[in-house]
Amino acid sequence: MVLRTAWEDLLDAMLPARCPGCGRRGALVCAACAATLAPAPIGPPPHPIEWWTACFAYEGVARELVARAKYRNERRFLVLVARELARAVVRAPVPIDLVTWAPASAARIRAQGVDHGELLARAVARIAAVRVKPCLLRTPGAAQTGLNARTRRLGPGLRMIGSVAGSTVLVVDDVATTGGTLAAAARALHAADAGAVLAATIARTPRPGAGRGGAAYTPVSPTGVRASRNSIGSTWTSSSSVST
Ligand SMILES: [Zn+2]
Repeated sequence: MVLRTAWEDLLDAMLPARCPGCGRRGALVCAACAATLAPAPIGPPPHPIEWWTACFAYEGVARELVARAKYRNERRFLVLVARELARAVVRAPVPIDLVTWAPASAARIRAQGVDHGELLARAVARIAAVRVKPCLLRTPGAAQTGLNARTRRLGPGLRMIGSVAGSTVLVVDDVATTGGTLAAAARALHAADAGAVLAATIARTPRPGAGRGGAAYTPVSPTGVRASRNSIGSTWTSSSSVST
């Protein structure tokens, strides 16, 4: 178990950050690296998600940013991406009633000591001032990472806990590749009569075989969202500006 202590969190907050792109000390993401962060590829959300926003294309500095927040448990980066997500969520076409997440596999939670998806969802909900609630339980099965694209598109097995009837639910996740996890979450939520299911992820990859960038995507659907330039360059350059 890799449980962090309050002391480790304190050290994390006190030590100067290293930019995930170039390693320069003093900036969470330096201005030069922030300028390389590309908007997420444009495309319709996977059925049955009504709306999806993602902050960045999953490449370059964004990959390292996610790795720091997720795999290396660097909370300040988790807070940063949560802020960016909360900013993106403001553009949702309908008011959000509650925020939830698709739980990681039991094996991953055991290995990392924490479910980063839950941490991210709770942080986004806190910043966006929206209720957060665990709605989904993961049924036993392989982790999504490492599965082939076809299997991943099916998503993990998820079942509902609690009621979401009539609610607009935002599912928060870190990276969407095939969108399988988000789609599985949306199917479970819709089966429980959710009013609408929206999704927000830190990063989004191009569709398999579609190449890089947004050019190969189908045009934005009425429910899709056009990625806008992120605000990372102006707001993420000072470690002192971050609190948890
Ligand atoms: Zn840098």
